Amino acid sequence: MTDIPESHPRYLSLKTREKLVQGVEEGMTSKAGLIAHGRGEAFDYLLGEETTPFAEKAERYALKLMKEADNAVISINGNVAALVPDSIVKLGQDLDAKLEVNLFHRTDKRMELIEKKLKDNGAEEVLGSEPDAKIPDLEHARALCSEEGIYSSDVVLVPLEDGDRAKALSDMGKTVITIDLNPLSRTAQVSDVTIVDNIIRAVPNMNKQEPLEEGFSNHKNLNRTLKYMSQRLFDLSEEL
Ligand code: ATP
Repeated sequence: MTDIPESHPRYLSLKTREKLVQGVEEGMTSKAGLIAHGRGEAFDYLLGEETTPFAEKAERYALKLMKEADNAVISINGNVAALVPDSIVKLGQDLDAKLEVNLFHRTDKRMELIEKKLKDNGAEEVLGSEPDAKIPDLEHARALCSEEGIYSSDVVLVPLEDGDRAKALSDMGKTVITIDLNPLSRTAQVSDVTIVDNIIRAVPNMNKQEPLEEGFSNHKNLNRTLKYMSQRLFDLSEEL
């Protein structure tokens, strides 16, 4: 990796980019994943690169839903595997949730590399490489999934997901939870719980948090997140 001095004001952001570039070089992450990350970063700027109280609430509500689920599944793609391989495996273990690799740009090689990455980080079982079911209303490769995993799940965590697939999962009647820095993305809008936070903060945070026991409205939470971003922009413009 490039030697980035810790004193650099954008140290964490640059390190995160390096992890994704390495993910591409290793063959796990797609090039399109780099662009998706850039879109996420732009929204993270508007949040001040911090976990908001709204994100934390959504994270804790997600924990509650996943703990109470009959078959909770965490969907993993090449960005997730490159950025948070250790903490996502831990989350699965703590919540008794299955891990399933599900790729937009699916190749057998990428599936294999991501499965290996998760196993190297302590995962015992990783689903997805031998699909035996299909998500309805999606074209072939993106629809492939495992019967015992995503297909039969009641609660599914789909971080950094594409809007079509999130909608198709929601149409199957599943409770869909996402982690997505863009509160305006289709995924953010169709999910039951939208965690507007950077995955590098959200997953380690979920590993430490207690489930939320009070009520939760995703609509209100998204609304407050957008207002928070707008207020921040307004305050910053006043400082100029
Ligand atoms: P949609 O299809 O849901 O409207 P999109 O076309 O932007 O959105 P993709 O590019 O498939 O969707 O998915 C990437 C999403 O993940 C984007 O909304 C982006 O903001 C978000 N994202 C990217 N990197 C991160 C990250 N590190 N943490 C959280 N969210 C991220």
